[in-house]
Amino acid sequence: MSALSVTVLGCSGTYAAAGEACSGYLVQSATTSLWVDCGPGTLANLQEHIGIENLDALVVSHHHPDHCAELPVVYNAVKYFTQRAKLRVLTTAGVRRVTDAFHPDGNSSDLFEWEIVEDRSASVVGDIMIRFSRTDHPVETLAMSFTSGDKSIFYTADTGPDWPLSNLGLKPSLVLGEGTLTETTKDLRIPHICCRHLASEASKVEAERLVVTHIPPNSDKSVHLAEAKMAFSGIVELAATGSTFTV
Ligand SMILES: [Zn+2]
Repeated sequence: MSALSVTVLGCSGTYAAAGEACSGYLVQSATTSLWVDCGPGTLANLQEHIGIENLDALVVSHHHPDHCAELPVVYNAVKYFTQRAKLRVLTTAGVRRVTDAFHPDGNSSDLFEWEIVEDRSASVVGDIMIRFSRTDHPVETLAMSFTSGDKSIFYTADTGPDWPLSNLGLKPSLVLGEGTLTETTKDLRIPHICCRHLASEASKVEAERLVVTHIPPNSDKSVHLAEAKMAFSGIVELAATGSTFTV
């Protein structure tokens, strides 16, 4: 029996609510720890659970700052104050570009072992297989599935409505999905999905559980939860910083 868990390091959508952090998650099996997305504020929260020295890899979905802005700060931590070898970073070319822009020589590969991934890439880290799928979002954005043994977690990253969750496969143990919008805040100019759409996608892939994340500050979380429950008959929960979901 394998087990996979996801611990929320931050889950505010677009920018962080007071006292909160943007997107970041710690995905763990018995032997492998992945930091998935590193939005502002998540490095502090990561250390409540694991030291930078003990991460097996950092996986970043796209180069919007609410998902990747800790990377130059992680570089500083690795360079000056931690005793670790290079940190493996699986991400898009865009994330590498914006991170390198912070480096005085324009190249952070002395400390980051960059592994550029794209639509349909697959990588293995420890005992976790990661598969990537490009979503419907203004910059190259990769949703991902994490599989260990017979358990799997799908993470939508950011997406608009024109990307099907089934591109990641079927029957995940859990979907961690962005539910940025509601029926009343839905707006075609905002490149995200509403909770009802997310829930119906989770139903289509026959997910066992759904965790809704990336809710913007000042949006009523209970409305997001209620709308997700309308279109998904399994367990639906809201992401909350510090909470862990185990499958
Ligand atoms: Zn985004």
